[in-house]
Amino acid sequence: MAVKDPVCGMTIEEDHAVGTSEYEGTTYYFCSKDCKEEFDENPEDYAD
Ligand SMILES: [Zn+2]
Repeated sequence: MAVKDPVCGMTIEEDHAVGTSEYEGTTYYFCSKDCKEEFDENPEDYAD
């Protein structure tokens, strides 16, 4: 399933995500470790 990396806006395959984070009950998928770290620092800036 295709999902959107909320940090860089890239569409990635869920299976190919490098990292995931849960925030307020939603799972977010990231293309890189850097995107995950950025999200984890400021999740409220990126969460829908
Ligand atoms: Zn990314």
